[in-house]
Amino acid sequence: MRKTTRLVEIRTARASEQGGRCFYCGFPMWSANGLGARGLQKGKWIPANLQCTAEHLLPRSDGGQDGRENVVAACRFCNQTRHRRGKVLPPNQYREHVQGRVRSGKWHSAAVRRFVE
Ligand SMILES: [Zn+2]
Repeated sequence: MRKTTRLVEIRTARASEQGGRCFYCGFPMWSANGLGARGLQKGKWIPANLQCTAEHLLPRSDGGQDGRENVVAACRFCNQTRHRRGKVLPPNQYREHVQGRVRSGKWHSAAVRRFVE
């Protein structure tokens, strides 16, 4: 089995365990393989930032593996934002940071927030 296929399977299983919601921000996610049907109707705008991605709790650049214990499902925005920082925050710390921003309405764009309302 190809490595990417396995990672997609882990990501899909994780997303399902998480109720289709992002590990960090809790927003509903979508994926091309059918997860989270909300918003997937043809012709309707879907925020790219809410695409479900495989998030490595210990980044691959730090030796993190593709295994089930190191991978959760996170939306594209949370995933990219975490790894864009100079120093990648540990998962729990980053999650707290994100949840604080979500509570004060300062995480996703207004368009994305409207989309999930
Ligand atoms: Zn997120």
